[in-house]
Amino acid sequence: MLKDQNRPVFAIIGSGWGGSTLARLLDTAKYDVVVLSPDMTFSYTPLLASAACGLFDFSLAAESIRQPGSRVRFVRATVHDIDFASKQLNCTAQDEINSEIKFLFSFDQLVITPGTTVNTFGTPGVHEHAMVMRNAHDALKFRLRLFDQLERASLPCIDDETRNGLLHVIVVGGGPTGLELVAELSDMIRCQLNKIFPHLYENISISVHDVAGSILTSFDEKLAEYGTAKLRARNIEIHTSSHIEKIEAGAIVTKELGRVNAGVVVWATGNKAIPLIEDLKARKTEKGLPRILTTDRLQVTRDDEERTIIEGVYALGDAADVDGATLPTTAEVATQKATYLASMLNGKIAEPEAWSPFQYKQRALVTYLGNHDGVIGGREDWTGASAWLAWRSGTLMWTWSWSRRVKILFTWTMDRLVGRDIVQN
Ligand SMILES: Cc1cc2nc3c(=O)[nH]c(=O)nc-3n(C[C@H](O)[C@H](O)[C@H](O)COP(=O)(O)OP(=O)(O)OC[C@H]3O[C@@H](n4cnc5c(N)ncnc54)[C@H](O)[C@@H]3O)c2cc1C
Repeated sequence: MLKDQNRPVFAIIGSGWGGSTLARLLDTAKYDVVVLSPDMTFSYTPLLASAACGLFDFSLAAESIRQPGSRVRFVRATVHDIDFASKQLNCTAQDEINSEIKFLFSFDQLVITPGTTVNTFGTPGVHEHAMVMRNAHDALKFRLRLFDQLERASLPCIDDETRNGLLHVIVVGGGPTGLELVAELSDMIRCQLNKIFPHLYENISISVHDVAGSILTSFDEKLAEYGTAKLRARNIEIHTSSHIEKIEAGAIVTKELGRVNAGVVVWATGNKAIPLIEDLKARKTEKGLPRILTTDRLQVTRDDEERTIIEGVYALGDAADVDGATLPTTAEVATQKATYLASMLNGKIAEPEAWSPFQYKQRALVTYLGNHDGVIGGREDWTGASAWLAWRSGTLMWTWSWSRRVKILFTWTMDRLVGRDIVQN
């Protein structure tokens, strides 16, 4: 890859919310922007539950990193190590067909935003038997698995007990990610699957398991209780203080209930640092999820007593936090930081010390509960249809292009008017 002599190479590790937002906003006349990531597409994570449950096509929940006419370069590779002294990244390119290639990539400036990975908390069988919901590919796999189980349960030789097990969907994790999937799934069962698979309607069930004493812990107690009651009223089993001992093929095993049959298990709980961040020689948080601890200008510092700033190196997204702030691991924080950094780097002030510091603006926390109901925390506490409307319009605004918004609006309208084209898409 040829280096443009006139523009410094601005490397971005990661093509998620942090990396993709920054790459879109950085001035490519000023910087030679290069995104390094194993993912060729960026997923609109707030739209994944809807895509998984057939509300719209998967292509609307993902965006290609390579855009026609864009000057942003893309290198499909995983970064394993960063040498701050020589300004080089240790990379591996790997795909399903070709052999692995290792190479070094030189940069002038760097942003580290590789997100996190799934935390199994050491639970045996999660990787082998549970699904996750982190990108558009996972959403597609979920839908295919669900339909596989519906078809298997429809076979004439299947007895009722086996059928109930095949059609039991268990979501581990009672936070917004898990519950939005539960909400969309229960809508799909109520509105579509009952018509396509009427013979199975009585056999389909959904359960949520969480080790905490309640679900929706990011909301205040009143809203969490409201959400729990609403979900239970719609026959969704909520198991709090549930300790998962292992996941097996076709079942989970909990300390409280023993073996519980399940046709689909989704692991939607906890983030873990990726090895690059775990091994990085930079200052990090001391408690909880290991994250790079940056200055309020998002600069990475050395892990020494002086906390010297590593010049030209920044970190954001789930893999980083601001010293003294403890910000949540959300797309909201990642995009606000990326937008801030792009505006500072594109501006006339070269010295970060002279920049205004990053300030996070807390937006309302919204979660969908299904059946046109939801909860909004944060600034105001709302429930019901207004929360649902806020959630729907909010998810729409996550997407970057107007054409995508129009397409999503169109599919929502068709869904209301004639129902989802669920089996075909
Ligand atoms: C289903 C779901 C729904 C969500 N809904 C919301 C919501 O409604 N609102 C909200 O604010 N947040 C939401 N979130 C959280 C939000 O998606 C994350 O906080 C956000 O993705 C973090 O952005 P990031 O750029 O740090 O990491 P990510 O978006 O995870 O991106 C990380 C990128 O780095 C790449 N990468 C990883 N390791 C390496 C490596 N070693 N080298 C190079 N590249 C690497 C990955 O392939 C990926 O492209 C949701 C998350 C999920 C899973």
